[in-house]
Amino acid sequence: MKKYDVIIIGGGPAGLTAGIYTSRAGLKSLLVERGMFGGQIVNATLIENYPGFPDGISGYELGSRMHQQAVKFGLEVTTAEMTDITQTQPYEVSTTEGNFEATTIIIAAGSEYRKLDVPGEERLSGHGVSYCATCDGFLFRGRDVAVVGGGNTAITDALELSQHASKVYVIHRRDQLRAGEILRQRAFAQPKLEFIWNSVVEEAQGEEMLSGLKLRDVKTGRQSTLEVAGAFIATGFMPNSQRFFNLLEIDDAGHIVTDEVMATSAPGIFAAGDIRRSSARQIASAVGDGVTAATAAFKYIQETG
Ligand code: NAP
Repeated sequence: MKKYDVIIIGGGPAGLTAGIYTSRAGLKSLLVERGMFGGQIVNATLIENYPGFPDGISGYELGSRMHQQAVKFGLEVTTAEMTDITQTQPYEVSTTEGNFEATTIIIAAGSEYRKLDVPGEERLSGHGVSYCATCDGFLFRGRDVAVVGGGNTAITDALELSQHASKVYVIHRRDQLRAGEILRQRAFAQPKLEFIWNSVVEEAQGEEMLSGLKLRDVKTGRQSTLEVAGAFIATGFMPNSQRFFNLLEIDDAGHIVTDEVMATSAPGIFAAGDIRRSSARQIASAVGDGVTAATAAFKYIQETG
C-alpha cells in the first residue's frame, strides 16, 4: 500500500492550499477529490472579495490556478471518493481508486447545497429546480424564475438571474434579508426582483418540467401557487461530514470540531474550511485554514516521527 505523510480529503481552496504548503514543506502528500478541483467555487462567475484580484476573478480560474500551483510543488492528486478511514494509526484511507496509508490526514471535504426536502424537489431537480444560478441561469432567458433564501448566495443568484429572466421572485421565510448591505441595496434597486416575504415552499409542481411552486405564508397560513419555470434553491450549505461521524467529534450542525490549529479529536487528523465548526465559509478563510492545518500536520510529523 502506498504510504504518505499527509492525505488531504477534498480539493477546494482549503485542501489545495494545504497541499501547496505540505508539498512545499517536503511532505509526501496525496489529495483525494471526488469532483472538480476547486470545489464549490468553480460555479462562481465572479469572485470579488478574494484579496489580490481588484477586478474579481472567476471561481473556475481561481480553482485551476490553486490546483496548478499545488501540483507544481509535488502534490499528488487523485479523482476518487474517500469511503473509509481506520480508527487507529497509521491511518488507512480507503477510496474508490484504492487504499493508502497516511501519518496525518487533513479533512477539507467542504459542504453541499442544503435541500428544501419538499415534494417534487428531487424529481424536478435538473428539470427546472436548480442549486446553481451560474450554471443554469441562462436556460431561463425571458422566463419567470424564483430564488429561495435570503442570504448572500440567494441575493447574488437573484441579481445574476435578473440578467436572463424576465422576473425574479425572491422567496424568503422571514421579512428581512440575511444578505449583507451592499447586496441588499443592489437587490432593492433591481426592478426585476420581487420579494415574497414570510413564505416557504411546500411543493415543487410540474410533470416533466417545473411549472410552479406551492407557497405558504408562515404568518397567515395562506397557501398560494407561484408560476415559475425555474426555482433556484439558495438556502445555504451542509457540511460533508457524514463519513467522519464514527471517527471525530462533530457538533450538532454536523461541523467537525477543531482547536485553533485545526486539530480534531483524533491524533494527527486536522480539518479545514467549510466542514469545520466556526468557519467563516469564505474562500480567504478556507485558504487560511488550509495553511494552519498544513503547518500543524508538519509539526505533528516532526514531533511524533
Ligand atoms: P446562509 O447565509 O446560511 O443563508 C441561507 C438562507 O437560506 C438564509 O436566508 C436562511 O433563512 C434561508 N434558509 C435556510 N434554510 C431554509 C429552509 N429550509 N427554507 C427556507 N429558507 C431557508 O447561506 P448562503 O447565502 O449560501 O451563504 C453561505 C456563506 O457564504 C455565508 O457566510 C455568506 O456570507 C457567504 N457568501 C458570501 C458571498 C459574498 O458575496 N460575499 C456570496 C455568497 C455567499 P434565515 O435568514 O431565516 O436563516
